[in-house]
Amino acid sequence: MWSDTQELLRDVTGELDCATSVYNVLKEPRRVLVVQVPVRRSNGVTEYFTGYRAQHNNACGPYKGGIRFHPGVTIDEVKALSVAMTIKCRVVNIPFGGAKGGVVVDPSQLNEHEVEQLSRGYVDVLGDNLGPDKDIPAPDVFTNSRIMAWMFDEFSRRSGRNHFSFITGKPAHMGGSRGREEATGFGVSVVTLRALQRRGIDPNGARVAIQGFGNVGRNAAEALTRSGCRIVAVSDVAGGLYNPDGLPLGDLLAWEDKSKGRSVADAPFGRRVGALDVLFVPAEVVIPAALEDQITGDNAKSVQAPVVIEAANGPTTRDGHARLLADGRTIVPDVLANAGGVTVSYFEWVQDLGSYFWDLDEVRARLSVFMERGFDDVVAEAGKSPDLRRAAYRVAVRRLSEAMLDRGWI
Ligand code: GLU
Repeated sequence: MWSDTQELLRDVTGELDCATSVYNVLKEPRRVLVVQVPVRRSNGVTEYFTGYRAQHNNACGPYKGGIRFHPGVTIDEVKALSVAMTIKCRVVNIPFGGAKGGVVVDPSQLNEHEVEQLSRGYVDVLGDNLGPDKDIPAPDVFTNSRIMAWMFDEFSRRSGRNHFSFITGKPAHMGGSRGREEATGFGVSVVTLRALQRRGIDPNGARVAIQGFGNVGRNAAEALTRSGCRIVAVSDVAGGLYNPDGLPLGDLLAWEDKSKGRSVADAPFGRRVGALDVLFVPAEVVIPAALEDQITGDNAKSVQAPVVIEAANGPTTRDGHARLLADGRTIVPDVLANAGGVTVSYFEWVQDLGSYFWDLDEVRARLSVFMERGFDDVVAEAGKSPDLRRAAYRVAVRRLSEAMLDRGWI
């Protein structure tokens, strides 16, 4: 992922004036912090967990990006994702730079008190490198509003006053924004409708298959259902559920609530399929909303849908992407498709700074404007080329290099 990111940056910056200088600034994060975070386990032993924070570029505003708690976190992954954040923020034009954080840990092996120590410890050990006008964290894989609340509290304790704008994705009663939880999925639905329109496909009754039924997949499914689409397949790690006539989403969500811990594949509303198979069912749209590297050079030919929306970060490998393009698919890249989360984080930050909070309709309406504008800018940049990923990087790198030129960085 890291070398792919660098290669794409090299390609795209190569087309600009000052190409070498722009590439030299962007090819590595400005700063990568490596820390050890102590946790006193319930058995009395103190363990240290390795954490990272990559701060890629802050030419247009403070560093911004989520923190993931996952056993597979690596320094290269965090670096690549920090670049993606820089690109995302420029594509939707919000005044932040890119950052990403992670701790190498399996949070399911920790109890609540241990997770709290880890969350507070991460903020404590990074200290003054974070802050509301320096670097603003947010949730990511296996982190949530509860963890953001502990991190907010820890930062505020250190400085002796409440800093609501220090972190986003907080609970709504503690300076969080309405609609932040659903934001990524809602944003996915906005670009999906735009992409369908561009291909001349009526969203009413359009079949949508979603890989991954976590926060993003679920909220995308709900928003798309409200817009008339038909969700024909969903999956989680344990398997998928397929019904060509459309899954009854309300019933499925109610079944999930009642059947805690069971896979959607067990729900009695369709046929069980493999978790990966949902990407290959007959549909107008497929939405990989789970993990990286799901659509590859080997399996991309099995994708039947004309529209692929990358709700996850990096769900398509380079070869997979090339194959999908060659087959005439429209791929809305991750740096655009999942930018709804950071956009509502921006709204949260603005609301915290002004201590004035918006209602859900207002958040959704403003988010739609940012996502539609981002989509239209990328499509305009692409012109006749079908490669929207490259176009998104071009839009972002051009905007960024203008700012860096004005600041005298290049
Ligand atoms: N972790 C999310 C992302 O990758 C949100 C980041 C944020 O809100 O700052 O886009």
